[in-house]
Amino acid sequence: MLFQLPKLNFAYKDLEPYIDSLTVETHYTKHHQTYCTNLNKAVNELPELVKLSIEQLLIKLPTIPEPQKTVIKNSGGGFYNHNQYWSTLSPKPQKAPTANLMRAINATFGSLDNLKSMFSGTAAKLFGSGWTWLVKDRNSAIDIITTQNQDSPITLSYRPILALDLWEHAYYLKYQNRRADYIEAWWNLVDWKAVGDYYFNS
Ligand code: MN
Repeated sequence: MLFQLPKLNFAYKDLEPYIDSLTVETHYTKHHQTYCTNLNKAVNELPELVKLSIEQLLIKLPTIPEPQKTVIKNSGGGFYNHNQYWSTLSPKPQKAPTANLMRAINATFGSLDNLKSMFSGTAAKLFGSGWTWLVKDRNSAIDIITTQNQDSPITLSYRPILALDLWEHAYYLKYQNRRADYIEAWWNLVDWKAVGDYYFNS
């Protein structure tokens, strides 16, 4: 097996009460695992893909032939996007960005509260299944973007630094149609240390 799920930094129940244990377990062991399994199948069919990292695969996506291209877009994107999602969540998060990241946030959004409110507003408006992201562009500026399905910011030349999964499987068991409540709860788990590490080290 080429790619494997990253280990979570917490137990399934540790994100409660914000995200329930069954949702985390199903999301990780079924949804995320299936993306990983299907990605591995597609990569194994084309020898020239076997040596590439998941980031390289998503950057080279436009040049990959079908049918592998579609599988890597969906399942490779799904694998990578979920790696990002779990990695910035913590039951004991650093509650605020460090001074350096705060400077970048203030330069773009005016304040952390403004960023959060714009991010949540963007996430609430996303139609269908997809993601809202905080990304770093080539000039190290930060921005809020959305992607549909499992499309990945990496393919669009952005480096994601914070990922919010807005597929119903991420919240429906606990929140049903109340997506805004899931978004508000999710902020309690965002580890600004991990976000800052992505911003400065990637
Ligand atoms: Mn998901």
